[in-house]
Amino acid sequence: MQAHSPNIVPTPADWRIDGAGRARLRDDLPPAMTGSHIDTQPTGGKFDGDYGGSAGLEVLSTLAEANVQTIAPFEVAVWTNQEGSRFAPVMMSSGVFAGAFTLEHTLAQCDRDGVSVRDALAEIGYADEHREPHAVGAYFEAHIEQGPLLEAHDKVIGVVQAALGQRWYDVTVHGMDAHARPTPMALRRDALLVAADPLQAVHRIALVHAPHGRGTVGRLGVHPTSRNVIAGRVKFSVDLRTADDLPLTEMDRALHAACAQAASKWSNTAAKGVSSSANNPIAIDIKQVVYFPPQPFAAQWVAEVRQSAKRLGVSSMDVINGAGDDAVYLARVAPAAMIFAPCKDGISHNEIEDAHTDHPESGCNVPPQVMPNAASNAGSIRA
Ligand SMILES: [Zn+2]
Repeated sequence: MQAHSPNIVPTPADWRIDGAGRARLRDDLPPAMTGSHIDTQPTGGKFDGDYGGSAGLEVLSTLAEANVQTIAPFEVAVWTNQEGSRFAPVMMSSGVFAGAFTLEHTLAQCDRDGVSVRDALAEIGYADEHREPHAVGAYFEAHIEQGPLLEAHDKVIGVVQAALGQRWYDVTVHGMDAHARPTPMALRRDALLVAADPLQAVHRIALVHAPHGRGTVGRLGVHPTSRNVIAGRVKFSVDLRTADDLPLTEMDRALHAACAQAASKWSNTAAKGVSSSANNPIAIDIKQVVYFPPQPFAAQWVAEVRQSAKRLGVSSMDVINGAGDDAVYLARVAPAAMIFAPCKDGISHNEIEDAHTDHPESGCNVPPQVMPNAASNAGSIRA
C-alpha cells in the first residue's frame, strides 16, 4: 500500500474541544467515505462487494500509519443487500442512507421464507445498530470490474465515468390454455409462441443502442407448464440498460412497440382461425418495476482517480459501470467515484471469480491518493 500525503495543516478553527477537554479534528464535518457491499449472490465469488469493504479498512489503516492529517474524518461504509438476492429492493442499505426509500419500508420487506429484514438483522445482532444518515463529503467505491474490458485492454484501473441507466419490467403474455392434441395450429392462442417475438426484440433493441445498450431476459415462467398443454400465460423479466436517458427512453418505447406488434400479429392470426378469438385477443401487459436514471460520477473525483493511477504508475482506462452499485445511490447525495480492478476472465457472480494478485492491490492504492484531498477541501464539503 502507498499513501499520498497532501501536506495538510489544519488551522485552529478546524479543531474541536469536546466535553472532556480533549482536542480533536472536526468530526462534525462530512467524512470522505469509502466502502462497498458485503452481501453476494447465491453462487457469487469472493471479490464482488467484499473487496471494496476490505479495501476501505486497508485504506484507513494506511492513512493512519502515514499520519495523514485532514480536516474532515474518513469513514468506511459496509452496505448490505446490494445484490438483492435475498431481499428486494437491491442496493437496500445505501438506498435508505441516500433517502431513496424509508427505513420502515425496508425493514418490513420479507425474503422467500417470509423472514423480514427486521428479523434477519435482529438474528445477527444488528437490529439496534441503525445510525441516522449523515452528510458525506465524497464517496469512493473500489469494486472488481465484473466484466472483461480491463483484461482485454491489458489495463489495471478502470476509471468509472458513470453508471448505466436501467429499466426493469415484468411482462405477461395472456393467451389461452388448450389441449395440445385436438387444438389445430391455426386456432391456438399460444402465449409462449407470442412471447418469442418480444424475447428476440429485447436482444435487437440492445444492439441498436450499441455500445452501451444492454437487453436481458433472465427469468421466464410458463403457465401451466405441462408438456401437452398449450401455454396460456407466459411471464418474463426484461432488463434494459444504457448510458443516457434519451436512448433509454427509446429502448422503453421499442419494447412497448415490440409487445404491441406481437399481440396484434398473433391476435389477427388466431382470429382468422376462429371467430371468438377476436373477442378474446392475445394481450401483453408490461409493468415497469425499476427505473434508475443513468448516473454520472463527479467529474472532479473521476479526474483525480485517473491522475492517481498515473501517479502510481499503473495503466488505466475510462469505463462505464453496467451494474447497479451502492455508489449510484451515494452519487445522489455526495460527489462519488468508482475504481474498478480487473477480474480474471471477466467472470463474476460465479464461484470461480478470481483476480490477478497485483490488481486488487493496485485498486486499493487509489483511494489513499484521493481521499485526503476530499477530506481536506472544506470548500467542496457539504456541511
Ligand atoms: Zn458488487
